[in-house]
Amino acid sequence: VERSLSASARELGATASIVRSASRLFATKFDMQRDIRATDEFTMVFDREVTEAGRTVDVGDLMYAELRGVTFYRFKPAGAKEAQFFDANGKNLRSAMMRTPLQSFRRVSSSFGFRTHPISGYKKMHQGIDFAAGTGTPVVAPADGVVVEARRWGGYGNWLRIRHNNGLESGYGHLSRYGSGIRAGQRVSQGQIVAYVGSTGASTGPHLHYELWRGGQRINPAGVRTQEGTELAGADLTAFRAEKARIDRIIASGGQKRPSMQQASAEGLRPARG
Ligand SMILES: [Zn+2]
Repeated sequence: VERSLSASARELGATASIVRSASRLFATKFDMQRDIRATDEFTMVFDREVTEAGRTVDVGDLMYAELRGVTFYRFKPAGAKEAQFFDANGKNLRSAMMRTPLQSFRRVSSSFGFRTHPISGYKKMHQGIDFAAGTGTPVVAPADGVVVEARRWGGYGNWLRIRHNNGLESGYGHLSRYGSGIRAGQRVSQGQIVAYVGSTGASTGPHLHYELWRGGQRINPAGVRTQEGTELAGADLTAFRAEKARIDRIIASGGQKRPSMQQASAEGLRPARG
């Protein structure tokens, strides 16, 4: 759906950055490769400034995205540095982990647990998930965090470890190279390209070895709840509900002029093919 999402959204006037924002949101909830079909419909709402002749002169930020009934509303809580996305109940989706750190991969070639090691032949605990993907496939940070190490580490080859705000750490092995500026101490944001798939270290072919750590122990990434966001309360929740109602009205009307901004319009878009 990645390419068709991008194509149909771009036809409707969304910028590349809006499409990227929506893709990142969807990736926190769906495995875009396995869960989403090309026929799935999506909805996006974003600001668009148009001239009287109808020409788009400026496109603002993504305000709302929906895929398969899962909704994301943009809202800026009081005191927050930047706007974040919340579900319909005001639960923050920003701190959620993406289900996979790759935007595309062919298949899971080895899951967490005991297996016969492809090189040694011994039965051994596989402490991560292997994603089969071509050399150079971008690896993205599944959540905001700080790079702890980006260095060679024995059989892992080029290794990267990121500490996330939710107490989890993620690790990446066999990388061909790192993303630009990626080194220990560097802050990374969700969806940012941090490295590229490779086959360095003890590896039989290009793939990503992905680990999750909690309290110094490796855990099964497939068993981790990906939704660990905080919920709005009090005045923030009241303000969020008002903003949600405004966005819902825009969607219900299928696009309308916003009286507060001259020559501005916001549209709820639902193309026939996602
Ligand atoms: Zn592995």
